[in-house]
Amino acid sequence: MRAYNFCAGPAALPTAVLEKAQAELLNWQGKGLSIMEMSHRSKDYVAVAEKAEADLRKLMNIPENYKVLFLQGGASLQFSAIPLNLLGKNSKADYIHTGIWSEKALKEAQRYGDINVIEAGIQIDGKLAISEQAKWNLSNDAAYVHYADNETIGGIQFAGIPETDKPLVSDFSSSILSAPLDVSKFGLIYAGAQKNIGPAGLTLVIVRDDLLDQAKPEIPSILKYSAQAKNDSMVNTPSTYAWYLSGLVFEWLLENGGVEAVHKTNLEKANLLYGYIDSSDLYANPIAKQNRSIMNVPFTLADEALDKLFLQEAEAHHLLNLAGHRSVGGMRASIYNAVPLEGVQTLVSFMDDFVQRHG
Ligand SMILES: *Cc1c(COP(=O)(O)O)cnc(C)c1O
Repeated sequence: MRAYNFCAGPAALPTAVLEKAQAELLNWQGKGLSIMEMSHRSKDYVAVAEKAEADLRKLMNIPENYKVLFLQGGASLQFSAIPLNLLGKNSKADYIHTGIWSEKALKEAQRYGDINVIEAGIQIDGKLAISEQAKWNLSNDAAYVHYADNETIGGIQFAGIPETDKPLVSDFSSSILSAPLDVSKFGLIYAGAQKNIGPAGLTLVIVRDDLLDQAKPEIPSILKYSAQAKNDSMVNTPSTYAWYLSGLVFEWLLENGGVEAVHKTNLEKANLLYGYIDSSDLYANPIAKQNRSIMNVPFTLADEALDKLFLQEAEAHHLLNLAGHRSVGGMRASIYNAVPLEGVQTLVSFMDDFVQRHG
């Protein structure tokens, strides 16, 4: 049997997608070879790549004046490449700091530019929250404003999209495709695929046309958005299998009602889990309600000494990868698109049973 996998990343993939990939692994569409063994420039592969892009455009309703790039190097390479691509002549940008990933991104940007860091994490009644935008000291001359929509480790998420007349650049690694999104509000959206899309090795960048051509001259061409756009993300060999498999995930989403349908289930999953945590004396979540992530749910046990037992028993119940990030401890359930409602129902029953026996 397949267990329920709550890993933060690389994360669960839909079983139906893996079955399809398995069925065509050795002999893709009767061509006598695996898609993995095909040239990225072959007609067959290019069609797969283009279909994946077309399906993603459909799912996210991406406007015509945005390019979609299928790159490598993960979100970390993107937040390193963004300053080189977008800082422009005055080399100034605003970075909103809400957790570990937005901090890593701003540290990379500080290597190249004059970075205005907005400390947006606040405490409300002992819970962590994101401050209102009216409290932020945004600059008038920033080339862009960067934030991480969902902090995967802290489990803290923006309740809406920040308002700015500057290009808005956002890390959506752990929240892309989890809820409907107005792409036209952004200058650039990036996401490593291994959370809510497909396998590790692929990174999506959705970038508005007018931002393509502002790169610093010393930028490596492989990191340059205009070069990648001009070459359909094939300046060099792309991550062909991850691109193909992500395409299967996009098809799966479209067949299952698209982003709106998956969002509805995601809310059901998150409400069930947070509702149970709130109703219990043994479990707690550290985030203020309005900023709770719908994808990553960190929680602690009232008695830390029970952590190890909790994880052992969970695994015996086929509930995998519930340990919190090594930097924060505790537990974390990542409930991405591919984790079904039954997975969260099973987790909540297990948590309740655990309380009965050890609470
Ligand atoms: C996982 C993650 C990253 C890092 O992704 P890599 O692909 O490993 O570089 C960055 N930002 C967020 C929000 C993440 O969840």
